[in-house]
Amino acid sequence: TPVPDYLQEIRDLCSTGAGGHLADYIPELAAVDPDRFAVSACTMDGVVYTAGDADAEFTIQSMSKPFAYALALRDRGIEAVLEKVAVEPSGDAFNQISLERTSGRPRNPMINIGAITTHTLVGPVGADEDERDEALAAGLSAFAGRRLEVDAAVMTSELRTAFRNRAMANLVRAGGIIDDDPDAAVRGYTRQCAYRVTVRDLAVMAVTLANGGVNPVTHERVISAPVARQVLAVMTTCGMYDAAGDWMSTVGIPAKSGVSGGIFGALPGQVGLGVFSPRLDEHGHSVEGVRTFERLSRDLELHLMNTT
Ligand code: GLN
Repeated sequence: TPVPDYLQEIRDLCSTGAGGHLADYIPELAAVDPDRFAVSACTMDGVVYTAGDADAEFTIQSMSKPFAYALALRDRGIEAVLEKVAVEPSGDAFNQISLERTSGRPRNPMINIGAITTHTLVGPVGADEDERDEALAAGLSAFAGRRLEVDAAVMTSELRTAFRNRAMANLVRAGGIIDDDPDAAVRGYTRQCAYRVTVRDLAVMAVTLANGGVNPVTHERVISAPVARQVLAVMTTCGMYDAAGDWMSTVGIPAKSGVSGGIFGALPGQVGLGVFSPRLDEHGHSVEGVRTFERLSRDLELHLMNTT
C-alpha cells in the first residue's frame, strides 16, 4: 500500500472516538473539538506524509520537554545539566513531586518538576527571561523548520491555574537546584508548553532527533549527535511517565506525549511520527494516539527491540 493510503487507513481504524476525556485542569484545553484526529510521518530524507486534520494546530505542552532538554544540553553541556536533573524514571505521574532524596534533583526532565528546572538551563548562563524565551522560540522553530508561535490564550489560561507547577518551582528554588525566580521559571515553562504545532511539525521535530540532530527538511544541524542520543535515551525510559514500561514493551518507540492530545515518536535512524487526538487516558496520554502508535509499530515493525 502507498504511504498516504496506509495513513488514511490508520486514521479510519484508530479514530473511533471511544474512550478517554479532555484535559480540563487547563480551562482552555477543555474547549477543543474532541473528535479531531491527525497522524503524520517524516522520513529520514525529509518527506512528510499526513492523514486526517493535518493542519489542526494544538499546543505542544509536555512534548516541548525533550526539545527544551536538548537545548539545555546544547547550551550548558551534558554534565552541567545532569548536576541539576537526573535521568531515572520516576514511576509517578507527570505532575508529582519526584525529587532524589540525597541530591534534591528532579528525577528526570520529562516530568514537570524536572522540566521546569530544565527550562531554566536553556540559553547562555545569565540569560534573562526574554533572552531565554527567544532561545527557546528559535530552538523549537529550528526543530520544526518553521517559526512557531505561542498560543497566548492557552498560556494565560494555564498560568491562572498553575498552582502545582508554582509550588514545584518554589521547591527546587528552596533546594538550591534552580537559581532563578520561581515565578519567572513557571512563566517561561508555561510559555514553552503553549507553542502551537501540527502533526506535521511533530513528525519533523521527531525525525530531527532520530536523525542525530540534523533537520532533514531544512538541513540545519540543531543539536549534536551525542545530545540527540541523550534525549532519545531519556524519552525511552521517562517519556511516557508512569506508563513508560507498558509503552516500551508494546510500542517500543522513544516517545513523548502532551496533555493537548499529541504524541510524537522518534525511531533512531528511521522515522519521525506525530499523532493528535485530544481525549486522554488516566496517564494523560491520547487514547487514540496510543492506539495509533500500537498499530504503526505492529504494521511497520517499528519496535526498537525487534530482532529480525
Ligand atoms: N503544561 C502542562 C503542565 O505543566 C504540561 C503537562 C503535560 O503535557 N503532560 O501541566
